[in-house]
Order: sequence, then structure tokens, then C-alpha cells
Amino acid sequence: MLRNDQLDQWDRENFFHPSTHLAQHARGESPTRVVRTGSGCHIEDRDGTRLLDAFAGLYCVNVGYGRSEIAEAIAEQARELAYYHAYVGHGTEAAITLSKMVLDRAPDHMSKVYFGLSGSDANETNIKLIWYYNNIRGLPEKKKIISRWRGYHGSGLMTGSLTGLELFHKKFDLPLAQVIHTEAPYYFRRADRGQSEAAFTAHCVAELEALIEREGADTIAAFIGEPVLGTGGIVPPPAGYWAAIQEVLARHDILLIADEVVTGFGRLGTMFGSEHYGLKPDLITIAKGLTSAYAPLSGSIVSEKMWKVLEQGTDENGPIGHGWTYSAHPIGAAAGVANLQLIDTLNLVPNAGETGAYLNRTMTEALAAHPHVGEVRGEGMLCAVEFVKDRDDRVFFDAGDKVGPQIAAKLLEQDQIIARAMPQGDILGFAPPFCLSREEADRIVAGTVRAVEAVLG
Ligand code: PMP
Repeated sequence: MLRNDQLDQWDRENFFHPSTHLAQHARGESPTRVVRTGSGCHIEDRDGTRLLDAFAGLYCVNVGYGRSEIAEAIAEQARELAYYHAYVGHGTEAAITLSKMVLDRAPDHMSKVYFGLSGSDANETNIKLIWYYNNIRGLPEKKKIISRWRGYHGSGLMTGSLTGLELFHKKFDLPLAQVIHTEAPYYFRRADRGQSEAAFTAHCVAELEALIEREGADTIAAFIGEPVLGTGGIVPPPAGYWAAIQEVLARHDILLIADEVVTGFGRLGTMFGSEHYGLKPDLITIAKGLTSAYAPLSGSIVSEKMWKVLEQGTDENGPIGHGWTYSAHPIGAAAGVANLQLIDTLNLVPNAGETGAYLNRTMTEALAAHPHVGEVRGEGMLCAVEFVKDRDDRVFFDAGDKVGPQIAAKLLEQDQIIARAMPQGDILGFAPPFCLSREEADRIVAGTVRAVEAVLG
């Protein structure tokens, strides 16, 4: 094993970390956190410190760490056949089995799954399929994509454009011209004082209608949204939001992409968030929970309505010109099969719903009355606490105060619990593995209270 000083040096000299302050890290002002092992909801770092991971990595290790069933499935697949491609009708038993398992779990009107590697590339695939679809339909002008401010859909060129967070645009010349943004369904921050949830939903719908009117429905192909805003702050939608939005989209022949990278495979206590909120999407993006991150794998689940047109397109134009070397990689697929089996065997979807509700309830009881807590919110195994300078007048802290990051750091230092300071606003996010116990939920709540009191009094 490498010595700590060696690891630190090699890291700073060679490793370009994603989503990291490059200069501070290179100067040694932020620690290199080296993680060695994991089991259940815990990970252990290089110094042997055991941490309760209340964010499941990046809300992805849904079945928890150290599952030998998945490790063995991966090892067996690697020994048997580590790789073969899926072009021109090739496949492996693992990939074919996984496609069947995904469709068995997806809403009935979905038809096929295209496998990629990451949530970002799955959303890139979605946009290409939508453009292809409208070209085949003879609607070459109908190409723009509507996304919401605060949505997160990846960090590629198109997907970073769809992402509605300033950090992902700034200095990258994004968003691209085909992407247009609309109101975030974020009642706590965006509603007028005293406005009801229903009235705020009506405002979001009116904003969408106005955008469609301005741009012209004949130029707009699709709307993309996460059932619950994730990285933008863990924000469940206001009452009636999805039904009203879908009505507008249907009226203007605008497709719906449900980005279920976070909510797919159980995080809301239902197999898909679409089920939870009554969505009827044309495409569903899946990634993280598909393999619980034991291997990289993502997917675009395509509706029967779109599939028919895509088929027609290949009859007219030849094979679809879209593929990754690693589409449907057998090792990822083997991990996916073992992961979905484990979710069923261990009843993890109901557990995510029940223990998640317990976590949300106890967090609310413990913190909702704190003078600097503006809101405790969540759904299923997703929970967030948003901090404010002044509750009565809804005044937010200055970004420079870094209240959210300070509380996350305190929680880690005092109680060895990992929560995520969400990237925009002072919001502490929780998205634990589905195997979280009530005792672990109690520890998270107690630790959060201590951290909040230590930073804000
Ligand atoms: N969509 C959503 C909703 C996500 O949360 C993420 C990642 N956090 C992505 C897409 C992008 O996934 P990836 O990082 O695997 O590219």
C-alpha cells in the first residue's frame, strides 16, 4: 500500500479531479480524501476512519457498499467475457437479460432500452434520438429543448447546457443555442410571499406557456425534467405541477424526457419517479441506481411511440448512426442484473420509501423550528435542509458565507457523517443508501442538529 505522503504528492501532481477547485487543491489547501473500503451505509478512509455515507456516493450506491453478490457477478463476467460490442445486432446474455429486467420495471408504454455509460451520455442520446425522430417526421425545425433552471442533466456540451446551474455554464460558452430554460418549480425560493402552492404551480405553467408562445411550438422538440429537482437543491415539485406541465406539452406536441438518473430504481419508494408523480414520458434517463454504481452503466428507455418512428427512420436511411464502444458493456450489464435482483430480494424499494419517510419526519421534527432553517423537505430517500439568514423575511445568506459547506464540514468532523452541501444555495442534502436503518437515520438527524447548532447557534 502507498504511504499517505506519497499518495498526496502523486494526487496533487497528476490527478485532475472533477468538480474541484483546481488551484486550491493543487496548493494543498483542500484535503485529498482517499477512500479505501465500504460496507452497508459506511465507507472507511485511508486512516481507518469510518464514515456514515448519507449521500450514497453521489446518490448512486443505492444497495449500499460491499455487496458480494454484485462483486461476484462482475468477476464472473470479466472471467467469462470482459468485453464484446453491441453494434450490428451483437449482444451478451447479461445485456439482453438486463434490457428485459429494465422494461419489466418501466412504465407499460416504454418499449426498448439503449445502454450507455453515464447519465450525461444517456441524455446526449436522448436529444439525438429526439432530433432524429422529428427529422423522420418531417419536422426539421422542431429541435429546441426546454429545461428548468436548477435542473441537472449532466456536464457534456448539450447536457451541460440543459443543466440549469450557472457554475456549469460560466466560462464554458454554454448553454448552446438550442437549449432554453424555464422557471424552477421551487416553491420555497421562487413563490411570492403568501402565494399558495397551487398558485405557484399556475405561475410555472404560465411561464412555460409564455416561453412556448415566444419561441413557437413548431421550434420546440422536448422538455426535460427530473421528477424531483436533485442537484439543484433536492426540491419536490409543488402540488399539481407534473399533471399541469404534461397537459401543456401534449397540447403543443412537445416530448417529455423524465430524467430519472437519481429517482430510477426506487429512491422515491416507487420503482420510478414517473410512477410516483403520474408522468407519461417519451424517454426515461437511467444511470446511477441501475448498477448502484458498482460499474458505470446508463440507459435511455424509449417509448413505443418513438420507437416506431426510429424504426421507420432506419428503413429509410440505414442503421442508426449512434453508438459508443462501451454501449451495453457486459461488466456493467452483469452488475445491473445482480443489482436489480438484490433490490428485489432485500425489498429495498419499500425500505427506501419507509425509512426515507422516517428520516424526513424526524429531520423535520428536529430542525423545522430552528431560526435559521427555512425549510426541511424531501421525498422517499431524499431529504434537504435549507438554511436562511432570516426566516420571517426569507433572507438568504451571502454565497461567500458558505453556510451550507460549513455545516457539512462540521457534520463530518463531529460525527463522521457525510452529507452534501448542494452546489447552489445553503442546502444540506441527504440521499442515503436504501438499506439505511432507523438507527442510522437517528444518527444522521442527531448529528445534523449538532452541526447546525455548532455553526449557527
Ligand atoms: N441527470 C441527473 C438527474 C443527475 O443527477 C446526473 C448526475 N448527478 C446526471 C444526469 C449526469 O450523470 P453522470 O454524472 O453519470 O453523467
